[in-house]
Amino acid sequence: MTHRIACVFAHPDDETFCVGGTIAKYAAAGIRTDLFCATNGDAGKNSSVPVSSREQLAEIRKDETRAAARILGISSVEFPGYGDGTLHTLEPTDLIGDVVSFLRRMRPTVVLGFGPEGAPTGHRDHRAMSRVVTAAFFLSGLHTAYPEQLTDGLEPYGAARLYYHAWQYPHHSPKFKLESVPATAKIDNRPWLDTKLAAFMEHKTQQHGYELFKNDVLLDNEFLALAAGTPQPAPLVNDIFAGL
Ligand SMILES: [Zn+2]
Repeated sequence: MTHRIACVFAHPDDETFCVGGTIAKYAAAGIRTDLFCATNGDAGKNSSVPVSSREQLAEIRKDETRAAARILGISSVEFPGYGDGTLHTLEPTDLIGDVVSFLRRMRPTVVLGFGPEGAPTGHRDHRAMSRVVTAAFFLSGLHTAYPEQLTDGLEPYGAARLYYHAWQYPHHSPKFKLESVPATAKIDNRPWLDTKLAAFMEHKTQQHGYELFKNDVLLDNEFLALAAGTPQPAPLVNDIFAGL
């Protein structure tokens, strides 16, 4: 079986912060990853990069994400363009449908997304995207969910597993306060730390987070928590495809 990964996140740079090392590890093994990024990050900060409008920041952050994606080995990036900072306010039917379509088109073995606590920052967009990816993981496999997509040649598709982003607690930085759901997968990042840092450096508008990234994100391991799908062969695995 040819494994594939689909990442479903909220903002440009979430891919690097949450699972950059994991993506790089599997890319080196020839496994394809595709990324769905719900917003363009246009409400974010811009460090020392000159930006004159939210529209311009959106374009810059999309370019930064594409550059980081190339470094990590992500094959494609989708930006449906939902409003940065608004995801928790949306009636989510359309956004879930976009993720269902993404999963039906990309046909991943494993889906990676936010846990319900919304990453160490607890950002409302992150928490909203956790609900969205969880719904889409199940609905993508149903004939009666978003049936209008099925007239366009798409078929229902159920990925084998959904993993939530997880982490060790407590954090090094007092800026990060939240505990994660218990991890069930521990991915050795040590061979990929240079790659993960290089991807972060492409997010030039986010370099105000450099120290935080170095101290609290660029760690020896990334953690994930099995949320749904095929059970793992052990309570803690070092491979998200273990047993598949
Ligand atoms: Zn984010």
